[in-house]
Amino acid sequence: MATELIASLRDIVGDPGLKTDADATASFLTDWHGQYHGAALAVVMPETTEQVSQVMAFADAHDIVVVPQGGNTGFMGGATPDSSGHSLVLSLRRMNRIREIDPTNMSMTVEAGCVLQTLHEATEAEGLYFPLNLAAKGSCTIGGNLGTNAGGLNVVRYGTTRELTLGVEVVLMGGRVLNLLSGLRKDNTGYDLRHLFVGSEGTLGVITAATMKLFPQPVARATAFAEVRDVDAAVQLLHRLQAASGGGVEAFELIPADILHVVFRHFPEIPQPLATRGAMNVLMEIGSTNPASGMPDETGEAPLQTIIQDTLAAAFEDGLVIDATIANSEAQRRALWDVREMAPESHKRSVGVVRSDISLTQSALAPFYAEMVDGVKTIDPNLWICGYGHIGDGNLHFNLVADERSNSDFAEKKTDLYDLIYDKVAKYGGSISAEHGIGQTKRAQLAKVKAPEVLDVMRAIKASIDPKNLMNPGKVI
Ligand SMILES: Cc1cc2nc3c(=O)[nH]c(=O)nc-3n(C[C@H](O)[C@H](O)[C@H](O)COP(=O)(O)OP(=O)(O)OC[C@H]3O[C@@H](n4cnc5c(N)ncnc54)[C@H](O)[C@@H]3O)c2cc1C
Repeated sequence: MATELIASLRDIVGDPGLKTDADATASFLTDWHGQYHGAALAVVMPETTEQVSQVMAFADAHDIVVVPQGGNTGFMGGATPDSSGHSLVLSLRRMNRIREIDPTNMSMTVEAGCVLQTLHEATEAEGLYFPLNLAAKGSCTIGGNLGTNAGGLNVVRYGTTRELTLGVEVVLMGGRVLNLLSGLRKDNTGYDLRHLFVGSEGTLGVITAATMKLFPQPVARATAFAEVRDVDAAVQLLHRLQAASGGGVEAFELIPADILHVVFRHFPEIPQPLATRGAMNVLMEIGSTNPASGMPDETGEAPLQTIIQDTLAAAFEDGLVIDATIANSEAQRRALWDVREMAPESHKRSVGVVRSDISLTQSALAPFYAEMVDGVKTIDPNLWICGYGHIGDGNLHFNLVADERSNSDFAEKKTDLYDLIYDKVAKYGGSISAEHGIGQTKRAQLAKVKAPEVLDVMRAIKASIDPKNLMNPGKVI
């Protein structure tokens, strides 16, 4: 039977679009962290929307589960099939054409398998800017970004993937194609279905293409790394910098001392940002599309640099900032960003990690952080407390990292640590998933934190679009 099914799939996608042997499929069946391992009937790699539609009609006719996959960099196990071996992994990587870049409408229509970095390069070549940016940009795809509603480094200025999306093309189980592609900024013609699919993690349909917003290319940037008094000081500094730069903050990342320890342990070649390692730090960047912002004035400083410098100097006077450095070259800027961008990889290389991706209101960040530090120390004083990330959006990756100095019973303490994180998130009205989604990792947790009536509506939507539950089952709800 399996042989016949595979022969039929080969008829649809051809030899280059089908992988069945263990070596060729292995990397599609494990997630980036190596936490989940699945099995599949085959990995199918269509090249066109029409082929996706045929695969989906075929899957429906034979009751075969479909697991959409892009770059397979997701953190929640959403793109990994279960271990039954009956699913199809539908990889969009061969659907990687840029259908159109429209500089007049400031938009582009691209296929789901386009790698994010390729989109950066293509838009930059047109003098335009696609602001979605994450450390996985060299591997993740726009389809996966849409599937997870990815956030990343520039949300504070440009919003999440959802806010960058003008339209989507989606193939439903059974093969129907919903062409919701549109370059319109305003369109109130009934329910806005695009928002159902963005962030649905492959549980409703396969996104095959999308129309995304573009922006003028920032041509001047100023980047600084500052030791701050505490989390509250970081939040105050963010608001001051937003005001001083006219909302020009492109990124604002919290970096505690413990994360510096973990990053430099695994990447000693990255330069230390400051002479001494402060307890709490911020990496900040402001940008402008005005070329004059990057030109040095008579004092030899560029306007954007002056904004950061004056803001930091005033914050220093007020006791918010303890020490700071401003990048004077692209190489220095790159080195500051390396500290932040190597954080996920440094965690992966550690002995053990409790990972989270939470969001809180700006006002709750400081008390949450303080209570978490106390709580973690009570459970295990030897853990590295790496609550870091996109604090400009109220988003923290509150990760707890174990190394050789940690107690050997770390694995047993994980439940207590997760309970601590999620109890505190609930106390402060936060979210258990700011940007990574739910996947299989947080499915049980979602069921605990969402109101039953909200879950009922989510299940009703899922059942009406995918009544046989063949789209990525076991994920999200
Ligand atoms: C080093 C590193 C840094 C990261 N930093 C960030 C960050 O700052 N912010 C952030 O939000 N995430 C981050 N991530 C997580 C990850 O990169 C994002 O979730 C990304 O959006 C996933 O894209 P992908 O193409 O790899 O998707 P995959 O991992 O392949 O899939 C992710 C989910 O989307 C679904 N999916 C994939 N393609 C489609 C499609 N075409 N149609 C429908 N559903 C689909 C899958 O079924 C799965 O549920 C990071 C990951 C790494 C490894």
